[in-house]
Amino acid sequence: MESTPTLKPDLLGRTRDRLAEALAPVVDRPFRVEQIYQALYARGVRDFAEMTDLSKDLRSKLADSFRIGYPEIKERHLASDGTCKYLFRLHDGATIEAVDIPDRDRRTFCISSQAGCALACSFCVTGYWGAGRDLTAGEIVAQVLAIRADRDLPMEGLNLVFMGMGEPLLNLANVKAALDILTEWISPHRITVSTVGILPGLEEMAAWERRPNLAISLHAPNDARRSEIMPINRTWPLADLMTALRRFPLEKGRKITFEYILIRDVNDDPRDADRLVKLLSGVRAKVNLIPINPDPVLGERMMPPDDGRVERFQQRLRERGLIATVRKRRGDDVSAACGQLRAFGRDPRGVRARQAAAR
Ligand code: SF4
Repeated sequence: MESTPTLKPDLLGRTRDRLAEALAPVVDRPFRVEQIYQALYARGVRDFAEMTDLSKDLRSKLADSFRIGYPEIKERHLASDGTCKYLFRLHDGATIEAVDIPDRDRRTFCISSQAGCALACSFCVTGYWGAGRDLTAGEIVAQVLAIRADRDLPMEGLNLVFMGMGEPLLNLANVKAALDILTEWISPHRITVSTVGILPGLEEMAAWERRPNLAISLHAPNDARRSEIMPINRTWPLADLMTALRRFPLEKGRKITFEYILIRDVNDDPRDADRLVKLLSGVRAKVNLIPINPDPVLGERMMPPDDGRVERFQQRLRERGLIATVRKRRGDDVSAACGQLRAFGRDPRGVRARQAAAR
């Protein structure tokens, strides 16, 4: 087995206090910490030599003791609609994907929280690839910094969605540390954390002072169907999830987004729309319908309904008073669309991949 070389500690992903602790043996005066913090995030400096407001001696001490942990851009795939998918290689060889999605005057980065996912949702390519390690706070922030630098964009005005690889609430401490930094430049109103509904994580988030938007990957209107396509539902069934969401504190005007992947003959019956309306009663909700993006590893059952059926489903929700939108397909010609991200550079090892290999 290849041995991992010893790494210097990463400065990225440290809140001000933690940065001050790490830098204490090196910096001469406390205000240097702030200078370095601003250089890392506001200016996106990735080499200590570029911190020219610091003395040469301090720059060289920093370079001897620390690294600025940007990932390597292994691949970059530009879709015909301008969406750009990045394959990043991390210091230990793990690979993750993240996506830059331009949409008129909006700019959204979809970023990953884990280098894979153990939750095995049957409509998701990441789940097929299987579990990977948690990303550090630095690796989460670094995705934003790396895409911003590559696309030459300012941090302000960006939108972020934690909808890439992994379940953010299973890596909540690192997601929180990353958010503490990123929200200094990007309003929490422009950030969405998407979860299948890990109840202890939701409780923790409910207590945060500055909460990002919350999106719930729902995808089915009852337990039987949800457990079939999302095994996590057996641990936290819908009744418990909905109770937690009814208690979740929402600022005035904010709603919880419910993502609902439409799969032909699985969850797209108009009666499913009625069940959904009933399920969401009492929650300030909006529904985002996502016709599934087919992928060879997902099998023939995972196909989208035709456009007419999608429209009828949306209409049914609207007639019954729910806000319902249909997500535009973005980046599907480079497999950057929803549910299509995977850990390239290693073989799939999720439950379904193992079952397929055994056949
Ligand atoms: S949909 Fe999300 S939680 Fe489910 S397998 Fe994919 S990445 Fe994991």
